Amino acid sequence: MAIASINPATGETLKTFTALTAEKLESKLQLAADTFRSYSQTSFAERSRLMMSAAGILETRKHDYGKIMTIEMGKPLKAAVAEAEKCAWVCRYYAETAEKHLADQIVETNAKKSYVHFQPLGPVLAVMPWNFPFWQVFRFAAPALMAGNVGLLKHASNVPQCALAIEEIFSSAGFPEGAFQTLLIGSDAVEGILNDRRVVAATLTGSEPAGRSVAATAGKQIKKTVLELGGSDPFIVMPSANLDEAVTTAVKARTINNGQSCIAAKRFIVATEIYDEFEKRFVTSMRALKIGDPMEESTDIGPLATPQIVDDLDAQVKRAIATGARVLTGGNKLDRPGNYFEPTVLVDLNIDAPVSCEEIFGPVAMLFRVSGIEEAIRIANATPFGLGSAAWTNDAAEQARFVEGLEAGAVFINAMVASDPRLPFGGVKHSGYGRELAEFGIREFVNIKTVWIEGKPQITQSE
Ligand code: NAP
Repeated sequence: MAIASINPATGETLKTFTALTAEKLESKLQLAADTFRSYSQTSFAERSRLMMSAAGILETRKHDYGKIMTIEMGKPLKAAVAEAEKCAWVCRYYAETAEKHLADQIVETNAKKSYVHFQPLGPVLAVMPWNFPFWQVFRFAAPALMAGNVGLLKHASNVPQCALAIEEIFSSAGFPEGAFQTLLIGSDAVEGILNDRRVVAATLTGSEPAGRSVAATAGKQIKKTVLELGGSDPFIVMPSANLDEAVTTAVKARTINNGQSCIAAKRFIVATEIYDEFEKRFVTSMRALKIGDPMEESTDIGPLATPQIVDDLDAQVKRAIATGARVLTGGNKLDRPGNYFEPTVLVDLNIDAPVSCEEIFGPVAMLFRVSGIEEAIRIANATPFGLGSAAWTNDAAEQARFVEGLEAGAVFINAMVASDPRLPFGGVKHSGYGRELAEFGIREFVNIKTVWIEGKPQITQSE
């Protein structure tokens, strides 16, 4: 894939970039290794000062960064500006909490003193997607840099201006050269970097195939990975739910980011008692969405990021129809310049057809009617993914059953799934492993070192 900014709203190529030469890549890897030696010795107070400065830059220039995101990947400008603000939040969160999260933990044993000590690992490679082109990077970089690691970003090939802007934010904030570097490279260069001894770990946010590939290479090298992959999140509505709120949130949860979010609600599983009413209101609201130029304030849904995503979505809808689904609204590409697809609602899906539990990355909703909570949970879990899940019910016993029964990294009750710097984020099953955010995220790329000072450890015969 060429490294280029192509406006998804118009198809116009705005800028193309040449991939780094082998020599330039080599010097960047060496710079990362050299910088790590000194940067890892800096104090939390110093790193915190720099991270606060990055937060300030993000806030001051949020409109500029918002525009870069929108012209490269098509999300509505208001959402892009909000994304820059959220990045400032995660920078501040870790600036304020990293020292606490990584403080020595005393453990009472028969040692004179024993404790857990956290140390940074080294240069970490981050392979990132285009859909939240700032947020995905900052939620890796803020904890990684606060822990004393240095970051190497291989961003998606369609968002090079975002990638360069992020590098510039860290350097303007005062981080030493080499603490965070953007590598303009294609995905074919990732394997070589993972095989390089100077790169000690990797995180990938993206699709399942990309995750498998990075994890396989890193596995051969015994390097730690965190994988944040796809999702096919269920959104369950039970009879006791507030239907007005559930419908409004369901539409937002499906169409956020033009439908291209890993934690977008993709499968709507609705109790039969309220199904007809839910379907009627949901379809009406999906039809009412305003599709158009993402730069306009009133636009609800902009273009999809690339023509390929439109083609993939179109093929998925056709496959669903071929296996028995009916289209209640939408179902087609829009005949206009840019990568537009109509907000679409599918019903009567064949539960056994693969498309019914695949990740659908665009504004296409699948509705399922269920007879009760156990059937709802069974359908919700009938997917290889396990990222987020939402359940709408005002029955306390049902809420507890959903919390226990849903196979996902997050369960949101009467609310839309969202990430929050204070709470861990990640998945189970094919949605990946490891966690980002909160104390769990900052402890992914550290050596959790056991320290024992004097006293006799208990030794078993085999040791
Ligand atoms: P993608 O095609 O997997 O690309 C993600 C990144 O991986 C890009 O930088 C891409 O580079 C690179 N890549 C692709 N194939 C690779 C390979 N074989 N080896 C090494 N690197 C490779 O995914 P996407 O289309 O950009 O993003 C959408 C996917 O991300 C969806 O599945 C979505 O659910 C998932 N996602 C997950 C989360 C989460 O937190 N769980 C968050 C956001 C998105 P190139 O661009 O150069 O190909």
